[in-house]
Amino acid sequence: MYYGIDMGGSKIELAVFDAQLTRLWQKRVPTPRDDYTTLLAALVALVQEADAVVGGGRVGIGVPGLIKADGTLFSANVPAASGRRVQDDLARLLERGVRIDNDANCFALSEAWDDEFRAYPSVLGLILGTGVGGGLVFNGKVFSGRNGVAGEVGHVRLPVDARAILGDVPPVACGCGQIDCIEGYLSGRGFERLYALAGGQTLTAPAIMARYRAGEAAAVAHFTRYADLLAACLGNLLTLLDPHLVVIGGGLSNVDELYPALAARLPAHLLPGCVPPRIEKARYGDAGGARGAACLNLLD
Ligand SMILES: [Zn+2]
Repeated sequence: MYYGIDMGGSKIELAVFDAQLTRLWQKRVPTPRDDYTTLLAALVALVQEADAVVGGGRVGIGVPGLIKADGTLFSANVPAASGRRVQDDLARLLERGVRIDNDANCFALSEAWDDEFRAYPSVLGLILGTGVGGGLVFNGKVFSGRNGVAGEVGHVRLPVDARAILGDVPPVACGCGQIDCIEGYLSGRGFERLYALAGGQTLTAPAIMARYRAGEAAAVAHFTRYADLLAACLGNLLTLLDPHLVVIGGGLSNVDELYPALAARLPAHLLPGCVPPRIEKARYGDAGGARGAACLNLLD
């Protein structure tokens, strides 16, 4: 059996899968946010409960944050675990190997192991949500890089095309310390900010898209600008990575108009003769975190 744990800022989910990735059992508990010993105890209790139900399994855990090269976790969402060696501590307490990765990589891995998508040797998972994140999966395994930040596409900076597309909008200071990371423009918040800056009101992304569908001129111009910028940014990533499949998750992945808009725009951003990859909406949504964590143990 394969246990996937999705540790979020408010809840921890453990799901048990068989080798065909059929989910057999699942449980959610609140995340102890402030005390590390309590957090570890909650994780151990979940695994022991799963053991009692299914008789044991290999453990993978997805965490919000960065697993640093020295094995410690940096996580703003789960302060109790930040600076801790979660993987080592869990492995010791559970007396079994534990694999760990960040939640964006687990998202990408879950999609890459979809029954249909697993035929693709390389998959870029792109999250257009509260922030912009991503993960790279090559031949069924996450590629995390030397510092664990491979696939953190939200902190790639705006491409040179951006100023012509965006016009005179003020720069965005990113939480990472840089200016004008693409997250500031392509995230759900960025989408809403660009609409407001262009003279629209402060609205949620779904409300803006409702106006787009009703033919509001400001919303139509806004969506065109956003799609142009997303295509320019994604075009750079495609030239770097040339993935066979791109899977888009996060709230903006539900904007169905994005997919034909990208297909129309991407060829102009690729090298001559290159064909854009298949681009699909994520299939696992909120269930992808635990599923992806379970997939960490599928290959040795
Ligand atoms: Zn940044």
